[in-house]
Amino acid sequence: MKSVCVYCASSNHVNPFYFDLAREVGVLFAQNNIHCIYGAGSVGLMGSLADGVLSQHGEVTGIIPRFMCELEWNHTNLSELILTETMHERKELMMRKADAAVALPGGIGTFEELVEAITWGKLKLFNRPIFIVNANNYFDHLLAMFENAVKEKFMDEEDRQLWKVVNSAEELLTELNSYFSQNA
Ligand code: AMP
Repeated sequence: MKSVCVYCASSNHVNPFYFDLAREVGVLFAQNNIHCIYGAGSVGLMGSLADGVLSQHGEVTGIIPRFMCELEWNHTNLSELILTETMHERKELMMRKADAAVALPGGIGTFEELVEAITWGKLKLFNRPIFIVNANNYFDHLLAMFENAVKEKFMDEEDRQLWKVVNSAEELLTELNSYFSQNA
């Protein structure tokens, strides 16, 4: 079973479109026998993602720092819950367990996780694909910033290969399945 780490929003206030997207990703993961690894939250897109997996009896592991668990931020019905001491340990473990990483729309925490994964990719510490789900063109401005970094030569042309942009949950699954079939 392949494992995919997903970064996404904790906000409960976004357009229902985004909740549906996260849930659809969870459903498709379960239906495609993909183990979902995420930040263990019960709120926002994180909660929808996990509920989508669980609705299809799929496997979902949440990895969360102990202090967040003490604040009862964790989803209580996951297949597996792993506690870490720090945020850094959480992110490292999420990446270590992942055969691919995915960013769904999110806020500053999601940006940080995505950019760290790309940085680790550049340093060859993370050698798996990183997908950005640019649904509703949510990531356009961040992608434009990446492009500007290449244009201004703060990044190399080849660094563009560090991430792949998809536009929907279905397109994400097509790309993941294609990658996994070539790297079985
Ligand atoms: P953001 O994209 O800013 O909503 O942040 C998402 C990330 O922030 C998650 O992966 C967590 O690291 C963290 N986070 C923030 N709030 C929560 C919460 N209520 N429950 C779980 N994780 C949270």
